[in-house]
This record gives sequence, C-alpha cells and structure tokens, in this order.
Amino acid sequence: MTERKSHPGRRLALGAGIALIPAVLFGLGGGPAPSSAAGAAGAASATPAIASKVVIEPAALKGRQGDVVALALALPAPDAAAAGGQAVPVGRLGDHEVPFFRLDDAGRFGALVGIDLDAPTGKQTLIVTLGDRTVAKVPVLIQAQHFPTQTLTVPDEMVHLDDETLARVKQEQQQALTAMAPVTPSRWWSGSFVVPTDGPQMGSFGKRRIINGEPRNPHSGEDFSAPEGSQVVAANDGVVCLVSDHFFSGHSIFIDHGDGLYTMYFHLSKVSVEPSQHVHKGQVIGLVGSSGRATGPHLHWGARLNGARINPLELTRLAFQ
Ligand SMILES: [Zn+2]
Repeated sequence: MTERKSHPGRRLALGAGIALIPAVLFGLGGGPAPSSAAGAAGAASATPAIASKVVIEPAALKGRQGDVVALALALPAPDAAAAGGQAVPVGRLGDHEVPFFRLDDAGRFGALVGIDLDAPTGKQTLIVTLGDRTVAKVPVLIQAQHFPTQTLTVPDEMVHLDDETLARVKQEQQQALTAMAPVTPSRWWSGSFVVPTDGPQMGSFGKRRIINGEPRNPHSGEDFSAPEGSQVVAANDGVVCLVSDHFFSGHSIFIDHGDGLYTMYFHLSKVSVEPSQHVHKGQVIGLVGSSGRATGPHLHWGARLNGARINPLELTRLAFQ
C-alpha cells in the first residue's frame, strides 16, 4: 500500500564528459563571502576567474522525510590539484556532517544527504567547505512525506515497561547510537544496495503508531515478511560494527558502510558474523527470526545516513555506481 516509486529525474548524470549544471559559485581565491569575493575580483590575490568555480549538480536539493538525496560536485583545477589531489570537500547540514567521496581523479565528488523521517519541513542549507574555506552553499528543501498512522489497543502491561526494563532499553538505545556515531572516512559500499531478504515488504517505514491513545516512536525501518530461518544478506559491503541481543530488536546486526552510512538487521534467529568482520554485498549474515519484541518471524531492516533515519529502500536505487 505504500509501495514507493523511484523518483524520476533523481539519477545524476555523473559519467565522464557529462556537463554539470553551474550552481552556487564562490570565488575560491578570495574571502569566504561570495559578494566580497566578487567585489574583489580585481584584487591581485584572486585566482584566475575562469578556474575559480565549484560546480554542483543539482543546484538545489529537494527531498521528502526519509529520503536519500544525491549530489555531485566538481572542483576547479587548482583546487582539485591542491595537496597533491588529496583535498576532499566536507558538507554540513544542521548538526550533521555530510562527507563527500571521490568519483574520479579529475576533482569530481559525490555525496548522499539523508533526510530524517521526522526532519522539520522547510528550507535548510548544506554548507560545503574545502579546508577552512566555504566553497558552496546549497539550498535544501525538505518536504513532508505522508506516513500512515496505525492505532492499536493492547493490554496495558504489554506497553508499560517496568523500571528495570526501561533502564535496559535506554542503555541499549545508547549502545546502538554510539555504534553508529562515527563517520568512518572510507567508502566500502558501491552501487545500489540489495534488499536483504526475500519476502514481501510491509510498507511499514515511517508508520506512526498510536497505542492505547499514546503516540509512540515512528517505525524507523522497513519490515519484510519472511519465514523463520530465511537467509538475511548484507545489503552492501561494510564492516560489522555491533552484534547485540536487545529487548526490542532481539538478535541484531549493525553494519558500517563508511562515510556515515549504516544498515541494521533485527529480530534474527541466528547471527553468523562477528564485530569488526568485513562483509560483502549479498553475503549471508544471519537468519530471519522473531527475537526481541516481535509478533512473528520477520526482518526489520533499518538504515541511518549522517545521523538521519532514512527509508532503507532508498538505498536500493542510488544514483551512484
Ligand atoms: Zn520493524
């Protein structure tokens, strides 16, 4: 029912020889402010104007809550050559770092921006820096996503946790957040992610749940209905950063794909990987189960990008190869 179609026009033309569309262009030889840099165009310190442009595609970003938005950036030749070609731009959106990764040796970079399922709608700005200079300010428009609401009535004792369990749950949430906090400066993933198990998708990402009249946290992953013992595979290459047995998520695996991108696999009946282990796209990492708080066997697949809870299915249709 919430079958989501890929967004037309989302794919970026990143192949060699494909022109990028000029966007927010800052003089790179001058000060941080674009107006003053332009005003100082005649100043002796300015680098040649023809080479002092950062090109970004698309010029403005737009996405809905839970989406992944891709962008590409091309540095002018002098900057691409700076520091022996090792200079890498870094983005920042609100409190979160948005790392760029190299697409080629000619100064072209890509980045993925995650929009949290609860992100406030409206305009934000992605600030891109190179070293200590701001080289681009990219407008980001965040739009509302329609998430279904589910209202349930269950016996009170099923939803109210005793103090001991509540303390356990808080500690486990912190453990998961800590495991997914680093922005590892490597990109292990490549190409689109694969769906981690066979079986129908339940369309449960972002679902708002109201239990006994009280709003609960939105559902932050996608559930797959699959029989107990079905194989679960890694959605892409990465490093296992946490294996745990948590009150809600049961036997679970967290994979760091690098550059601030993580996926997680919950309610497993068997885990066949260990922390620090490198895994490959399609490699079996465990089996479907109903461990933790689950009403029956299914796989809960979640993803986090730069701290944002994103729809993992967005990763199965990435613009980058
Ligand atoms: Zn779930």
